[in-house]
Amino acid sequence: MNRKLFLFDIEGTTTDFNFVHKVLFPYSRERMKDFVTLHETELKATLEEVSRTMVSEGGSQPDLNAIIGQLIKWINEDRKHKALKEIQGLIWDEGYKSGAFKGHVYPDVRPFFENLHSSGYQIGIYSSGSVKAQKLIMENSSAGDLTGFIKYYFDTQVGGKREKVSYQNIAIRTQLTPPEIHFFSDIPEELKAAQLAGFRVTQVLREGTASSEFPGIHQFAEFRF
Ligand SMILES: [Mg+2]
Repeated sequence: MNRKLFLFDIEGTTTDFNFVHKVLFPYSRERMKDFVTLHETELKATLEEVSRTMVSEGGSQPDLNAIIGQLIKWINEDRKHKALKEIQGLIWDEGYKSGAFKGHVYPDVRPFFENLHSSGYQIGIYSSGSVKAQKLIMENSSAGDLTGFIKYYFDTQVGGKREKVSYQNIAIRTQLTPPEIHFFSDIPEELKAAQLAGFRVTQVLREGTASSEFPGIHQFAEFRF
């Protein structure tokens, strides 16, 4: 056995898909106007990025209200814009700290992380949410602070989750060979890309996830090393 790193997707794998779509996204949508208005000065550079994108996509120079409107539109479209992600990260930070919500993780996650960690394996996260958002979920999770178990956090800075090269980049960054890394996700296209890069893969079949050609488990306790 030569596995060294267990790499986890968040949304649909460690965490209910609905947490992101029914808690985090709506919260950032509701808080966007007040938050941006209140922090306009500190957010100047980030808001300018939004404005640049709007102009480059054919809009006229937007005022603050138009920028806020655009950010909300991007939330609704689930657009992965760097400036939006940055502002959402700050809004969520505030939400976690104020106790408005906790980062959802399924009950089997913490015991599995504890087991892996105490057995000497490394744990990493690879999610399309920003590294900041990932750390917030794991630090303020419904199972307590899980960041002590996690060595690596990767977001789409290493590439898209359905691209083989992203997984190759993760292997380089962790200085491991691909077969030393085991990736868990709910999405077959992501598992396929990871497998093409040489990773071992398992599909996590939470409620509502359709099984695929990849080996599947319903809970981490079912995983056999
Ligand atoms: Mg997922």
